[in-house]
Amino acid sequence: MGRILCEKHGEQSFYQICEHHYADVCNGIKSKVLTTGIFAYKICENCYEKYSFKEIENYTIDEVLKLPEAAATTIETLVSQKHDLVSVKGICVQCYQEKLNSFNEDKN
Ligand SMILES: [Zn+2]
Ligand SMILES: [Zn+2]
Repeated sequence: MGRILCEKHGEQSFYQICEHHYADVCNGIKSKVLTTGIFAYKICENCYEKYSFKEIENYTIDEVLKLPEAAATTIETLVSQKHDLVSVKGICVQCYQEKLNSFNEDKN
């Protein structure tokens, strides 16, 4: 996971989340979010279905590394193709958590 320079929190790790979930988070809408296998993007149900992430949901890096080379290459190609299709934004993990926490507070 890379680092992002957050205006509020300084240098932080970040999540990559699809633009739809990002918009929901920014607008205070609590939406369902799914995490994709290997790159762990957080994406909305629509993106998950649209790009058939189900095909690769059971693969972790460790499992792919155990596969024969040809099979591993096939999976890796599939994974990177899908991730290229999704439009994602980076969000600082602290900001993301704060936003989620604020939703929970609103509810109570
Ligand atoms: Zn989406
Ligand atoms: Zn932040």
